[in-house]
Amino acid sequence: MSQHICELCGAQAVREERLVDYDYKGRSFSLLQPGIYCDSCGEAVLEPEGLKATRLQLQTEKSKIDGLLTPLEIKRIRRKLKLNQARAGDEFGGGKNAFSRYEQGEVQVPKAVSKLLFVLDHHPELADEIL
Ligand SMILES: [Zn+2]
Repeated sequence: MSQHICELCGAQAVREERLVDYDYKGRSFSLLQPGIYCDSCGEAVLEPEGLKATRLQLQTEKSKIDGLLTPLEIKRIRRKLKLNQARAGDEFGGGKNAFSRYEQGEVQVPKAVSKLLFVLDHHPELADEIL
């Protein structure tokens, strides 16, 4: 925790992690979010590093609400299918960086890819037919 000046009101602000409430499609969840917080005006400044720190958790919560595989589930299933990230992007579409982005929570996995991976997770013998 360190001292900062609020960009909005000029009062003392602090850099720390706070529990921040998110609303997504009518559901709510909380994440411990690093940022610069001002108690005088309520301003929260989230820097790129702070957003990167919670990206994976945020995407995980959104994926659960959307009924999609979470980033960690995608990684687990990809490994189970013995595919590296580049090959998985080639097989399922999206390009060689697609799975890196899904697994780090940078981008939400397309619904069709999520459902296909779900099926292959439960019926890995089908992978031989399509990969
Ligand atoms: Zn302020």
